[in-house]
Amino acid sequence: MTRTGRVELHTHLEGSVTPARLILLSEKYGQPGLLTACLNEDGSFYRFEGFHGFLNVFKHVTSLLRAPEDFHAIARDLGVQLASDGVGYAEVTLSYGVLQKRGIDPLPVQSALAEAAAEVAADNGVELRWVPDAVRQWGVDAAWRAWEAAATAGRELGVVGFGLGGDETAGPAADFADLFAEVRSEGFGVTIHAGEVPGMGAAASESVRQAVVDCRADRIGHGLAAAADPLLLATLAARGIFVEMCPGSNVATGGIGTWADHPVRTFLEAGIPCCLNTDDRALFNLDLEGEYRRASELLNLTLTEHDTMQKAARKAAFDCLV
Ligand SMILES: [Zn+2]
Repeated sequence: MTRTGRVELHTHLEGSVTPARLILLSEKYGQPGLLTACLNEDGSFYRFEGFHGFLNVFKHVTSLLRAPEDFHAIARDLGVQLASDGVGYAEVTLSYGVLQKRGIDPLPVQSALAEAAAEVAADNGVELRWVPDAVRQWGVDAAWRAWEAAATAGRELGVVGFGLGGDETAGPAADFADLFAEVRSEGFGVTIHAGEVPGMGAAASESVRQAVVDCRADRIGHGLAAAADPLLLATLAARGIFVEMCPGSNVATGGIGTWADHPVRTFLEAGIPCCLNTDDRALFNLDLEGEYRRASELLNLTLTEHDTMQKAARKAAFDCLV
């Protein structure tokens, strides 16, 4: 399947809620106080400090996403953002774990998203696919419930994979090995956030290793910790594990000091398939065009290297594009 535009494989629907949409949602649900906890004084962008500050803002944003129509609206917004950013195909994560924790049935939400995706394809020329995920710190049983809902929604509603997000410091990926074996056996892709959080020491490498070896992830979200571990780099390369890199996000949450500190080149030189992604484009005020531009300006990546990443992304898409 060929499509025009860039491919983005790691972008969260909840992280694409624009400040303007957040203001509308806060009015709808009578929660104006949340705005001061999330936005700057004139309401034009999000503000937070560090990884846990970010998680707090993320929690506030998700608390205002309640009805299927809210998800439909933000998916339409995301379609507009992606089209203006030159993205033609995106796999979008949505936390079923958070929905279920809040007592929201994911299935009507996923139906609304499938409807929105059809409209986005027709109106904005962007193909959206969905990767529901579970929240690591809420444990294996909750993750199974999220997966069962994702499997029920299935490819008919645009679901192509299943993932694991949340607080990486809260529990080992290996606990979820049986779950991801089931996801794979049902023919869905597996992506796991790992090696993202700063300050985990040797546990960060182990976190990536468990995601790859125990859970047999097809793709790793972030994977920063692997860059300092030659053996792990070799494992990723040998197994062809795709790394969804999110440099701007890592700067925003404190995983790296500056964009130029990101080990994009280390992954490329190790022969690991990878691409750039925004992660939470509205919350971090990022776009993909800017991320690729910074890769050129700050790390001297060539257009050929950009092309290498995009070709790898097409191949790693769960709805394979090559
Ligand atoms: Zn992410």
